[in-house]
Amino acid sequence: MDFDWSPEQIGFRHRVRAFLADHLPDDWGHFSYSFDTGSDAVEAFARDFCPKLAAEGLLVPHWPKEYGGQGFDAWHHWILNEEMFAFGEPRSYQYMSVNWAGPALIAYGTPAQKAEHLQRIAAGTLFYCQGFSEPNAGSDLAALQTRAEHTGDGFVINGSKIWTSAASIADYCVLLARTGGEGRRGITVFLVPMATPGITVNVIKGLQGQKAFHEVFFDNVEVPESAILGELDKGWSVVTGILHNERIGAPRYALTLRGLDHAFAILRREGRFDDPGVRAGAAMARAACEAARLQCYGVIDGRVKGKPPSADTNLARYAIVAADRIVTDFIGEHLGDYLITGSDPVLNATYRRAGSSGIAAGAAEIQLNAIARNHLDLPVVR
Ligand SMILES: Cc1cc2nc3c(=O)[nH]c(=O)nc-3n(C[C@H](O)[C@H](O)[C@H](O)COP(=O)(O)OP(=O)(O)OC[C@H]3O[C@@H](n4cnc5c(N)ncnc54)[C@H](O)[C@@H]3O)c2cc1C
Repeated sequence: MDFDWSPEQIGFRHRVRAFLADHLPDDWGHFSYSFDTGSDAVEAFARDFCPKLAAEGLLVPHWPKEYGGQGFDAWHHWILNEEMFAFGEPRSYQYMSVNWAGPALIAYGTPAQKAEHLQRIAAGTLFYCQGFSEPNAGSDLAALQTRAEHTGDGFVINGSKIWTSAASIADYCVLLARTGGEGRRGITVFLVPMATPGITVNVIKGLQGQKAFHEVFFDNVEVPESAILGELDKGWSVVTGILHNERIGAPRYALTLRGLDHAFAILRREGRFDDPGVRAGAAMARAACEAARLQCYGVIDGRVKGKPPSADTNLARYAIVAADRIVTDFIGEHLGDYLITGSDPVLNATYRRAGSSGIAAGAAEIQLNAIARNHLDLPVVR
């Protein structure tokens, strides 16, 4: 693994930063921390911003040229993600469309599906949500019960999803439904327009922000056979690819580092670095973020070299969670007064966002199980 960035990669990072400097409003720092990724304000901004990003060639540079990308490698994709995340993700939930819905369509879509979806995602005009989790199927995703019955010329879908990010702003849902027997076999992926009659979306209010979570109900929702992504009953391979991209799809450490730097600035201003306990905690927090970054770089290096997905993804994912937890513990221990009074939006948002880190994109304990099984060769208790 070569740890140096090439001049071209450095130039690409500068290009992304320059674009952000030109297009983010002056009060973006406050704006992005005060509002969450799915808030009305950030969504409205993203709907204007993403097409501009696309026109500049910075929305899907990692996609093949034939689908509107530039055929850049995974390093460029990661640099772009780091810069976007460090600025509080101005693409809103568009990052799910470009990072895993689009790539799933590229890998498994029919020519008609590709023609219908990919150019519009690449243009920054379509938002997707991910209808995977259900009230009784989260970590054990293969237990999902939402059912799609074959009706001859299509399917009728009944069931419910929960914790769905972006459901109230999405144009399409990448939906998992059971078409066959129990377990992983018998699951099919559908691309469902969110405007289809029979779909009800309710916002779940909570700590994560204005519209972070939703419950989505499917009541006799009719879709044609052409809505299937991949093969009937064999959706698990599509799911595996999406989860691999999702687990290492969001460089959360980039935003966490920004919050940590902000915490350091306050502590420095208050003369608190004289305290050896503060210094030791600060070093541990910084080291955890750097460890997460390097674990992720290992995964990206494998992608660029064409290696198949491996348990390194779980290690990197857990390193991200650990960094978030160590940083929030540090902020809570040394700057807890700011959190209690709510007087610093940056610290608040860093703390609040990190709270979901060990749950979103697969619970931390599930990553640890995979590491135990695949790296340490330990028996896994189910
Ligand atoms: C910010 C955020 C965004 C999300 N966005 C989406 C989305 O867009 N679409 C979507 O479909 N879902 C989404 N989710 C849901 C997420 O995927 C699930 O919450 C997650 O998979 C965990 O499932 P669960 O909530 O049912 O918890 P459970 O699976 O019930 O787990 C509860 C606890 O038990 C532990 N546990 C469970 N099984 C094991 C085991 N075998 N070994 C050890 N411990 C175990 C877990 O680690 C966890 O601590 C989101 C969640 C968050 C926090």
